[in-house]
Amino acid sequence: MFKKILIANRGEIALRIQRACRELGVKAVMVYSEADRDAKYIKLADESVCIGPAPSKDSYLNMPAIISAAEVTDAEAIHPGYGFLSENADFAERVEKSGFKFIGPTPESIRIMGDKVSAKQTMIKAGVPCVPGSEGALPDDAATIKRTAKQVGYPVIIKAAGGGGGRGMRVVHTEAALLHAVQTTKAEAGAAFGNPEVYMEKFLQNPRHIEIQIMADQHRNAVWLGERDCSMQRRHQKVIEEAPAPGIPRKLIERIGERCVAAVKKMGYRGAGTFEFLFENGEFYFIEMNTRVQVEHPVTEWVTGVDVVRTQIMVAAGEKLPFVQRDIQIKGHSIECRINAEDPYKFTPSPGRITTWHTPGGPGVRVDSHIYANYFVPPNYDSMIGKIIVHGDTREQALARMRTALAETVVEGINTNIALHRELMVDAKFMDGGTNIHYLEEWLSKRIR
Ligand code: ADP
Repeated sequence: MFKKILIANRGEIALRIQRACRELGVKAVMVYSEADRDAKYIKLADESVCIGPAPSKDSYLNMPAIISAAEVTDAEAIHPGYGFLSENADFAERVEKSGFKFIGPTPESIRIMGDKVSAKQTMIKAGVPCVPGSEGALPDDAATIKRTAKQVGYPVIIKAAGGGGGRGMRVVHTEAALLHAVQTTKAEAGAAFGNPEVYMEKFLQNPRHIEIQIMADQHRNAVWLGERDCSMQRRHQKVIEEAPAPGIPRKLIERIGERCVAAVKKMGYRGAGTFEFLFENGEFYFIEMNTRVQVEHPVTEWVTGVDVVRTQIMVAAGEKLPFVQRDIQIKGHSIECRINAEDPYKFTPSPGRITTWHTPGGPGVRVDSHIYANYFVPPNYDSMIGKIIVHGDTREQALARMRTALAETVVEGINTNIALHRELMVDAKFMDGGTNIHYLEEWLSKRIR
């Protein structure tokens, strides 16, 4: 096991990884920007290093500053968390070239999955079902583009190979709008991602977002840890996640989970990863793979009993997976609500000083957050300030526990989306389970204030 690792992230996930390190008896070096200097997890850290001013590009995206922080503190490995540099293949490469272990897959795996065209081609080869669409990137020639769209069938979606975070996509309903949409998406993708390549997929009308968590070691062992339903989204951002996915027959899920494991083994993938699928009419369609720990990992931890972050660190240190597939039994139901510092109606960010912070508790309640009373939420980063996760023997019990947890939660000084979560937890359709990816936005458009 490592003696010391550096955590190249901030906020709740930095604290989550710090906790895993404590449990493993590994020293954790925290890095922070000037905006995060007073955070409690920095004060409580074994060691901490300031890596630059508030803007992410000068601090949490500053590769030389992070690597030199690892050098001066004698860390052996770097955990990138999620966001920031976690899916940056160049960073992973620089980390390993500087003599540190990157807690994640190889730079090569990250590179393949970071390009959606090569990711999709890899999945097709590995027998993972994908959304029907163009074979690879779209060519320049107009006739071929039109022919492809006709074969795929309208509506189609044009997606940037280098896209991410819900950006670089455009839905096209008619041939008249096709070429212009391709050109615009290409231009935007070139400017935003440095790669103008785009591809085409059938636009699925009412899918659910179902994802499979996998974990692999460096000895070719791989296991899938059940699925998560992340269909409750606003602007392609997940708001509520749960495990297992309500109403999908286990046989169907098992078949796709086994495909993911086979793909992971074929690729020689190591560490944690997530296969994201759209699910419609009983079929799974791969859309992308995330090569890092995800925000919603706690719901998987709760239904499987596997500590995802701890296992990431263990396999990065070269250990074998401490479980095999038959050890993974899904127990009960878990739901996560993301708590954001934002206006509950307009969704504009609401940074500032938190005056009151009262967190819920009791059986089956977990709060992952770095917040405390008198904490100042900086305006520079993502608005998520924490997560409330619950578990119950059944989905009904989990929902009841989430309602109680949300009722107990008090945050003052800033606005949050807690009111939204309280409303959703008593919404009849959400309570039935199985809502699709458009449900939340449709619900919001009809919401009465
Ligand atoms: P990103 O990397 O930007 O998150 P994804 O490929 O994961 O991009 O897609 C993000 C979201 O866009 C999906 O969760 C889904 O809501 C929508 N989407 C992507 N591809 C399709 C498709 N073929 N049909 C319908 N919706 C899609």
